[in-house]
Amino acid sequence: MNMDQPAATFHLHCYQCGHTAPLDAPFTCPACGDPLSLRPVRVDAPPRWETPRTMWDYGALLPIRDPGAVVTLGEGATPLVHAEHLAAKYGFGEVRLKNEMTNPTGSFKDRQISVGISRARELGRDTVAVVSSGNVAAAAAAYAAKAGMRAVLFMHGQAGQGKIRQAAIYGATVLCVDSPAPSRVFELCLEACSRWGWYHLSTAGMYEPYNVEGAKTIAYELYQQYGGELPDYVVAPVGGGGLLGGLWRGLLDLQRMGLVAHVPKLVGVQAAGCAPFPQALEQGWSFQESLKHPWPDPETVAGGIADDIIFDGHTALPAIRSTGGKAITVTDDAIMAGLHLLAEREGLLCEPTCAPVIAALEELGGMGKGARVCCIVTGNGIKELPYLKTVRNEPVRVAATMEAISDALKKT
Ligand SMILES: [Zn+2]
Repeated sequence: MNMDQPAATFHLHCYQCGHTAPLDAPFTCPACGDPLSLRPVRVDAPPRWETPRTMWDYGALLPIRDPGAVVTLGEGATPLVHAEHLAAKYGFGEVRLKNEMTNPTGSFKDRQISVGISRARELGRDTVAVVSSGNVAAAAAAYAAKAGMRAVLFMHGQAGQGKIRQAAIYGATVLCVDSPAPSRVFELCLEACSRWGWYHLSTAGMYEPYNVEGAKTIAYELYQQYGGELPDYVVAPVGGGGLLGGLWRGLLDLQRMGLVAHVPKLVGVQAAGCAPFPQALEQGWSFQESLKHPWPDPETVAGGIADDIIFDGHTALPAIRSTGGKAITVTDDAIMAGLHLLAEREGLLCEPTCAPVIAALEELGGMGKGARVCCIVTGNGIKELPYLKTVRNEPVRVAATMEAISDALKKT
C-alpha cells in the first residue's frame, strides 16, 4: 500500500442526486432512494504517479484504513497494448487494449475482491460469500485462500464449467444453484450472509459499496499509461455495470484532482440475449425503474455478463449519460467472431464474456472515425478453453515422420 499520501477519508455519495452522508449511515439515499456509493471526501493530486507495481500503489484512494488488513496477490498494474490491426480494420486513429487478463486469477474482478476481502478482514470476519458466474467466484476463492478465510460461492445458471472448476481448486465451498436468474441467487446469498454472519463479497454496488471501488484503479492506471492524454472512448462489457461505474468514478476522481479536463465517452456493451442496460437507456429509465424490469430469460455465450438486472445501474447509467457515451448490443455470433479476431490478429485470447467489446467496434467505428479507443479486455479465455468449440484451423493428427508432416502442411 502506498503510504506516500495519507489515506483518503470517505463519505457516502449519491451519484443520482448529489446527497452525501457519513460513512456509517445506511447505504440508501434518504433523498431519492438510490443506493449510495463511497467517495473520497477530498482528493489531492498525487505527488508522483509512476508506473504502479500493483493497484495498491493507489491505496490512498481506496477505502481501507489499515494497511495490515490488505489482502493482495499483486493485482492491477496491467498492460496497455496497441491493437494496430483493429484500428486499421475499423478506421480508428488508435485502439489500445487494457489487458486485465494478466490479473492473478485472470480477470479484473481481482481488483474488486482484493478491496472487498481487505474490508472483511478489517472488520474481523472469517467467512466471505459471493454470487457469481465464475470470475468473482474464482477471485473470492483465491483471495480467501491467501487470507486464511472460508469462501462460500453461490454460482448461478450462467456459470461456465471451466470457471466452476477454477473456483473449486482454491478450496472454496462451491454451490451450483439451480437458477438462471442472478437476482434470485443474490436473494439466497444475502439471506445466508444474514443468517450465518458471513461477509457479502459479491461485486454488486447496490448491496456492497466497498469492493466495487477496486475498479476505479483501472482509470488511475489509464491516466498514468496514457501520459495524461486519455482516449476519446473507453469500451467495457456490462453485466451488473460495476466495471463501467467504477471506471467513471475513477475518472471523476482524476477530474477532481485537476489532472484531466474532461472524461472520455464511456461505452457499455451487452449481449442481445441479456440486454437490460441498453434497454434502460433507450427507455430513459432511472436505476430504480430498471429494477422493475429484470431481463426475463438471459441466454448468451457471454455468461459472465448475463445479469438480469443492473446491480450497479446507479453509477453505470449516469456513466453513459453524463459522458455522452452509449450502450451497444451485439449478437452471440458477433461476440464469437470478436473473440476469434482478437486471438488471430492481436494475439490475445479473451473469454466470451469480454469479447463483446471487440464486437462493438464495428458499430462504434461508424461514429468514431479517427477516434482513439481503449477496450477493457476483462477476462482470460484460457478459463473456458475446453468449451471454445470452433477454431479456424482444426489440429491435424499426423504420423511421426517428415513425410506425413509434409503431406499435412500441403493440405492446410
Ligand atoms: Zn439521492
